[in-house]
Amino acid sequence: MSEHSPTNQSAKQAAIAAIDTEFEALIALSKDIWDHPEPGFREHRSAKLTSDYMSSLGLKPRENVAITGVVAKVETGRPGPHIAVMGELDSLIVPEHRNADPETGAAHVCGHNIQIGNMLAAAVGLSQPEVLEQLNGTISFMAVPAEEYIEIEYREQLRESGDLEFLAGKQEFVRLGELDDVDISMLTHANVWEGRSLRPGVSHNGMIAKTVRFIGKSAHAGGAPHLGINALNAANLAMQGIALLRETFQDEDHVRIHPIITRGGAAVSSVPANVTMEMFIRASNVEAIQDAEAKVDRALKGAAMTIGASVEISTSPGYMPSKFDPAMSEIYDESVVELLGESGTGRVPHRTSSTDMGDISMIMPTLHSYTSGVTGRSHSDEFEIIDWELNVIDAGKALAMTVIDLLANDAIRGKKIIGQFEPLMSREKHLETIRAFQRTESWDGA
Ligand SMILES: [Zn+2]
Repeated sequence: MSEHSPTNQSAKQAAIAAIDTEFEALIALSKDIWDHPEPGFREHRSAKLTSDYMSSLGLKPRENVAITGVVAKVETGRPGPHIAVMGELDSLIVPEHRNADPETGAAHVCGHNIQIGNMLAAAVGLSQPEVLEQLNGTISFMAVPAEEYIEIEYREQLRESGDLEFLAGKQEFVRLGELDDVDISMLTHANVWEGRSLRPGVSHNGMIAKTVRFIGKSAHAGGAPHLGINALNAANLAMQGIALLRETFQDEDHVRIHPIITRGGAAVSSVPANVTMEMFIRASNVEAIQDAEAKVDRALKGAAMTIGASVEISTSPGYMPSKFDPAMSEIYDESVVELLGESGTGRVPHRTSSTDMGDISMIMPTLHSYTSGVTGRSHSDEFEIIDWELNVIDAGKALAMTVIDLLANDAIRGKKIIGQFEPLMSREKHLETIRAFQRTESWDGA
């Protein structure tokens, strides 16, 4: 059977027509989530909206997956690959944004609300009987919590109470086995550039997080600093040490380390005895993250030793680096050309930010596309969505059409994608690697 048989086209036309009938409802739902932003693992209202909408399509959503996630599975009844179409539920917290929640400061300044819209648009198209009868395999629609790595203290509490192990939604989905039988994943994220286009990403840095506490000894800051141990000086020295390591990082590894001091001292007249820092260590591959981490730990301990302080270093796995599947991106391009013309395609080159879609890309072929039609700096008070049709409707159609290309004609193209894919790590190794980043160490520099 040809890869471009007419069956694909009739299924695609049926999916597109169904999505068009839900045009208003899908945009209204995406705007409703925009108007009611909820940060990660708190997205109860957004999850309920998603679940209710899935039910209205005749799907049977499961709720409370990884606290707030929602999953609905559609079976074609014929064997074939299992594809997950994902959307992220969570907002950021930027109280300065015009649409921020007055109580929590939450705001959708990364546009994740449109992801739920385009994931549900794909669900509309792909749940039509005349579409499903032409496909093989299984499709799951997943609203995933907590992509943004924020509110770490709150999430640590959830970890301590046993509600989660990892602080990011997709890692929790992996841990809970939600992706055990999934072969391929896809998602569309908003991004800022001119024009109307849907451009798959290539790769992202991964990252780990550290919280650091330097412990010194308080004393009169003017009268008797020789009796104290200045924890702020140790932290300052650590910042210098980390900065001076820069020349040892190789350009192709895209290493970025950005520490902040979160508590610099208690009172100016007393030698600071308790100083805390937080930092992310980012790089484009796991080995480079491990290498940078070892050097950072050396800088922290070296600073403690110089001053005679002690240091506690708590490390948490952030996200794995992303490597998105080039062959999937090419199949996706075909639908984008159909929808938007040649000018609608392109690639988003390597990004030094991070996403937990990286974790998924380590273990299965993954498409992470970006849609234009938003303005202002992402994660800032300026961020706005201006082209809802592109972000929700066209992006949803492109996802649905790509799933059809992968699962139609006995899923010949889907099977090829899976056969060609070389995982960067096995599923077991993935969990082992992120668990290995989770640890706390105390070191006495005196
Ligand atoms: Zn985002």
